[in-house]
Amino acid sequence: MFVLSFRQRDELASVAAAAGWQVVAARRAGGAERRFLSSGAAVAVIDARGATADGIAATAALGSAVEANGGALLALVSRGENGSITALFDSGATHFLASPFSDAEFLQALRFASRHAERMAREWQAGAVFAPLGWRYDPVTRSLLLTPGLAALLDCVEAPRLRTLLLHLDHGDRLAATAAIRRMSGTRPATAFAHDLDGIGRIVQHLQLDTDTGRIDAVVEPLGSKPEPAAEVREALAGARDAGSARRWLTRHLAGEAAGPLHVLLIALNRFEMVNTAYGRAAGDALLRSAQTRVKDAVQEILGRDALVARMGGSTFLVAMCAPRLRIDLVAERIASALARPFVSGDSIAVLGCRIGLAEAFPEDDAARLLRRASEALAEARESDSATLRVADADGGSATIDRLAVELHHAIERGDIGILLQPQVAIATGEIIGVEALARWQHPALGTIGAETLFAAAQRADLEIGLSDHIQSVALKQAASWPAVLSNLRLSLNLTAADIARPGFADLFLDRVDASGFPRTRLTLEITESGLIEDLGVAAGLLSLLRGAGCRTAIDDFGTGYSSLAYLKALPLDYLKIDKKLAQDITGSPRDRIVVRGVIDMARSLGLTVIAEGVETPEQLEGLAAEGCQIYQGFLCAEPLSVTALTALLAKVC
Ligand code: C2E
Ligand code: CA
Ligand code: CA
Repeated sequence: MFVLSFRQRDELASVAAAAGWQVVAARRAGGAERRFLSSGAAVAVIDARGATADGIAATAALGSAVEANGGALLALVSRGENGSITALFDSGATHFLASPFSDAEFLQALRFASRHAERMAREWQAGAVFAPLGWRYDPVTRSLLLTPGLAALLDCVEAPRLRTLLLHLDHGDRLAATAAIRRMSGTRPATAFAHDLDGIGRIVQHLQLDTDTGRIDAVVEPLGSKPEPAAEVREALAGARDAGSARRWLTRHLAGEAAGPLHVLLIALNRFEMVNTAYGRAAGDALLRSAQTRVKDAVQEILGRDALVARMGGSTFLVAMCAPRLRIDLVAERIASALARPFVSGDSIAVLGCRIGLAEAFPEDDAARLLRRASEALAEARESDSATLRVADADGGSATIDRLAVELHHAIERGDIGILLQPQVAIATGEIIGVEALARWQHPALGTIGAETLFAAAQRADLEIGLSDHIQSVALKQAASWPAVLSNLRLSLNLTAADIARPGFADLFLDRVDASGFPRTRLTLEITESGLIEDLGVAAGLLSLLRGAGCRTAIDDFGTGYSSLAYLKALPLDYLKIDKKLAQDITGSPRDRIVVRGVIDMARSLGLTVIAEGVETPEQLEGLAAEGCQIYQGFLCAEPLSVTALTALLAKVC
């Protein structure tokens, strides 16, 4: 760990050293980047308590080195200087801790940062076969700073001039480099260009312009013409069959007896090439792996293990199975909604989505003909602006189906969309103190459809706001007339990103609450981290209006990948809901537990009440309780219930 402190006495370095950290301490900001890089540390700590301006400057100087290294930067701030958090965050800090804090809290923050660094390092691994490579150019001083890795590679001992660096490129590449540098502007501060470099092979240079200072930061990413990354990807994808084996599977199943008609889905990721170009191949490969896992999970959830999942090359997947058409539609829906969720790639978020072509086998079909029809349907889906799914017709044409999206309008009118209530339990007393409303669609043919598929269909039908309004009204109306045994419970409602972005939403929502008769003071509004991230300023404004009106607020799904503690400081929040994956880590490895513990401790030190989601076993509950978590929600108490079932449960408990 690398500590930069502006204080007279740097007691934290000794606290960390006593806990087994290797500490490299510095007192001056000058040259900190170089010293950080040569220390080999993964975590940098900048003590900005009482020295905000120096802290921000030092963070800015270290930020890109930390990022290029796949490290973490923990900034320590004074409690009274919350305003500096945003500036520190913008400068590249990844974690924060506000004073006063105990030694134990500091160590936990360190472990949390270190865990982040480990994760980043893993994600960077494919590209980071070499020491971190990068450079920074300052147009005012005309100075060029190289990371030691790049300096060694170019055989430059002292900082060269930008022109000298460009001379390492051949003529064509030099033109591309100059064009990339010139095309950056205030509205387009980031760009990239690729070229060959002796000793490495193909590389991508990711450039970032700091519009305030005119400085350019470059992260150099080797594209790995070496065999390792490709082999790694192949290995990771080994679970999936390739195109050849998919064809053999289809031929076998076309010939054999089957439980239902054979269907083929071809799924192509949207905008995948953009990720490859913008973030590099390592990020692209990682994204393909998570896309594949999502497709597999969606297929298995509905069809079990009998279906075929294969990767057809590029970013196209094939799913084939013998099953009735209704189930195939449902699988296609699930896949579409799974791939519509954002992907996290390093520190960036990529929203891709997909297009799907569907074909059903005819008696005279062979594998090639069936695949061709699925490909044609896919091509049509790709050309369409709105249809996610196209189905090949018998006559060779294709028809759009997005039945769920179409049916959703009627479903809302008919009242087929309802809510279930999942209890929230105070861990100390075992008492049910509130419920979260969760949407369900009672589909006449497909049975119960869960919230994720429902919201994905609403998005495609452009009905997100209509659906959200409907659910909020239903939940509030129902809660206002709950039976007496439920009359002390709090009600939690989920807000969507579309709600948050809607101008005047707070007034509209509060009118709706008042009209229902349900007291504002028993209401909690949950916003997910991904909802927040879209526009932090708007979300913060909305949350403080709702809170000022008597409601409470919660950050939902904390720990699912976007997590940055910066939000917690900046937002008017009452609760932090730990996502079920993270909460369940409490019974995982000692390292996993440390992260959960760190989140709970830091949330509590910021005055937030911690709710753990997805608690399924007594062991998980015990572990979370021991770490100071105050409320839980999960199958251990109950799954989402109807009002009748909830009333029965409370009557039994009381
Ligand atoms: P969420 O807000 O995180 O809701 C918790 C989800 O976890 C629910 O899934 C719930 O059924 C599930 N769950 C609860 N306990 C456990 C457990 O012990 N183990 C496991 N494995 N899962 C558990 P659901 O109902 O499918 O909702 C999914 C997401 O859809 C919700 O996540 C929420 O973000 C969104 N959503 C659901 N209903 C609404 C709604 O009415 N409005 C809005 N805007 N979003 C909703
Ligand atoms: Ca929620
Ligand atoms: Ca949640």
